[in-house]
Amino acid sequence: MTAVLDRMTAEGHEQVVFVADAAVGVRAIIAVHSTALGPSLGGIRFWHYPREVDALVDALRLSRAMTLKAAAAGLHQGGGKAVVLWDEPGDQRKEPFLRVLGQAIDELGGRYIAAEDVGATPADMNGIARETRWVTGIDGPGGSGDPSPFTAVGVVAAMRAALRELGDEPTLEGRRVVVQGAGHVGAHLTRLLVEAGAAVTVADVRADRVDALQRAHGVDATAADAALQGECDILAPCALGAVLTEGLVPRLRCRAVVGAANNQLAAPDVDDALAARGIVYAPDFVANAGGIINLAEEFVGYDADRALTRTERIEHTMTGVFALATELRVPPGRAAETMAERRIAKEGARRRWRPGDPAAWTGGEPLRTLRPTPTPDSERVGSFSSPMARKTTQRRRKTS
Ligand code: NAD
Repeated sequence: MTAVLDRMTAEGHEQVVFVADAAVGVRAIIAVHSTALGPSLGGIRFWHYPREVDALVDALRLSRAMTLKAAAAGLHQGGGKAVVLWDEPGDQRKEPFLRVLGQAIDELGGRYIAAEDVGATPADMNGIARETRWVTGIDGPGGSGDPSPFTAVGVVAAMRAALRELGDEPTLEGRRVVVQGAGHVGAHLTRLLVEAGAAVTVADVRADRVDALQRAHGVDATAADAALQGECDILAPCALGAVLTEGLVPRLRCRAVVGAANNQLAAPDVDDALAARGIVYAPDFVANAGGIINLAEEFVGYDADRALTRTERIEHTMTGVFALATELRVPPGRAAETMAERRIAKEGARRRWRPGDPAAWTGGEPLRTLRPTPTPDSERVGSFSSPMARKTTQRRRKTS
């Protein structure tokens, strides 16, 4: 795939920035898919890509997905993504490397706002923040912290909508839920479900994580490779993408699929196959938007209660997705994309956000941040290994 502009035109990407610095070894791509609804927000992915073109395809694909996610969530922001070609997963990025990335993000003046994604750490965000204010997920006043609890709240809200779509009472009490993946989101989700009176079964390839949840909540456990076919009301994929394949659909023993994992459908047709079997699929990018809803709050003055209230609205959004699917006679995944695209066409047609433009995101004010502008070089000496920066390496957050 070498026709980059053809692909950008076909999928509506606004801008792709290639970043290279031979001295520090940076090779990165920043894709801004859309700023029609506001500045684009999306994670930075550090990943080993066999070929440069794979990184480009990933950046284009992921940035478009962020546009849909933000639009469906009702946020006034667009979709972007940065991918960094990084071959050594165990290695930490050094200060000069992160500064180059930060400068490239800064040059976009807020058109792309960075966050954590796969492979990134809070220490990366802190390093990038030395060069730009256009980064979320760093320490200090106004930071939004770990998004996983919010993502879990949004998934439960989506579950209530799915139950209503099944003709049931929208309550989790007495429901059997299988949670695949006992990681950050899976653990919070398990806790919320148990608190709501659901009977939860968890599965993970890491036995220690399953054990911890069993000890904390007395939940059941199942083998990781059996989880997807477990008998339940709701299957909650919270581990990997592409878990719902054409081959799996006939063997599913759930009534609904509602989880946090990104890109759960291995192929678009699986959306149809699930609907044909009468299994309610809650589109992943609508169900798992709690994390990005929480992050967006950083730029209007972070308030956890407000983020929570907005995340709970996922129930309403998901109900709207199911209604649109019925109206258009399409499966819910396609309805969710249509819903997002319609909003962009209606509210953002031909708009392109430029640095300094007011943003609906912030009620017509310029984007602001509670963090100070990056400090001049002279004040930075030695600060990179500050106790705060070291402390943050123990925490982790993700957007997508
Ligand atoms: P995580 O890495 O903390 O947890 C994932 C868990 O899945 C791990 O415990 C891992 O051992 C387990 N796992 C891996 N392969 C498995 C398998 N085959 N069977 C069972 N378990 C397996 O990640 P997370 O932050 O909890 O995110 C979970 C998913 O949700 C990811 O797809 C992520 O992209 C998506 N997501 C997360 C957030 C968030 O706020 N963290 C937001 C939106 C989407």
